Amino acid sequence: MRSWVLGLLAVLAVSCSQGDKSGVQRPLIVATTGMIGDALMNIAGDTLNVVSIMGPGVDPHLYKATQGDLTRLSRAEMIFYNGLHLEGKMGEVLEKLGRTKPVIAVTEDIDKSKLRKVPEFNNNYDPHIWFDVSLWKEAVLTMNSELGEQYPELKDHFDENASKYTQALDTLHIWVKENILRLPEEKRVLITAHDAFGYFGVAYDMEVRGLQGISTLSEFGLRDISDLVDYIVDNKIKAVFVETSVSERAINAVVEGCKERGFPIKIGGNLYSDAMGNPGTEEGTYIGMVKSNVITIYESLK
Ligand SMILES: [Zn+2]
Repeated sequence: MRSWVLGLLAVLAVSCSQGDKSGVQRPLIVATTGMIGDALMNIAGDTLNVVSIMGPGVDPHLYKATQGDLTRLSRAEMIFYNGLHLEGKMGEVLEKLGRTKPVIAVTEDIDKSKLRKVPEFNNNYDPHIWFDVSLWKEAVLTMNSELGEQYPELKDHFDENASKYTQALDTLHIWVKENILRLPEEKRVLITAHDAFGYFGVAYDMEVRGLQGISTLSEFGLRDISDLVDYIVDNKIKAVFVETSVSERAINAVVEGCKERGFPIKIGGNLYSDAMGNPGTEEGTYIGMVKSNVITIYESLK
């Protein structure tokens, strides 16, 4: 074989896989959100090269694929995304890629009766399913079965890892429930910048109010602020929360509004809503992010 052919083959091999220290080529799998990437890594262990394109603090509703993302997406063997219109600006890109390779919405197998339909989100379903750990487990099982279909030689390995990971999720689900229920009912009110916590509220028995709608694409208005201020003052709510992936502007307006009414409300802290924390920290994993949120909520509202 001529050397230029060998060279071309080498380029092709690098383009769809990435070598590690041992020189083994691992298939490239691309996830949109960090939560999906984290689940895929838990299932795959070190057999696949999993890359998430949306890092800490990134808002998936507004995120547009960069040139670098497009390169990675085109090199990937499989792509996993949340779906239910979470990735509001990536629909076209994902649809195009879906013509040539598996592009999987991790929410696709969840029974529609378990999803929250939201009239003000164009009558679509609420995409933030990772806030109900038991629903997220279903998404994880979809990821596992899709990976097993694509790489049958690794299926047993994936199944074993997925079983361990979903057991950890079962434990987490119970832990969240127990800790939120330690708050008396009148204190179980969660006020955030955007309406990400609807599933959390249903699963763990908490009243949830967001200033912006389901998607951060919708703007908040003065009316929304004054309604929320009335609600906070009437119900003597102790704290409101900011989100790491949403501008603080909205929630600061609420804090100001409460101050003007002579009601001192505090910002209860940062919640991880649509993005995880920094890689290498506990909050940089799905389980750590959920735990951090629950501790922040409990400590601020108790
Ligand atoms: Zn959101």
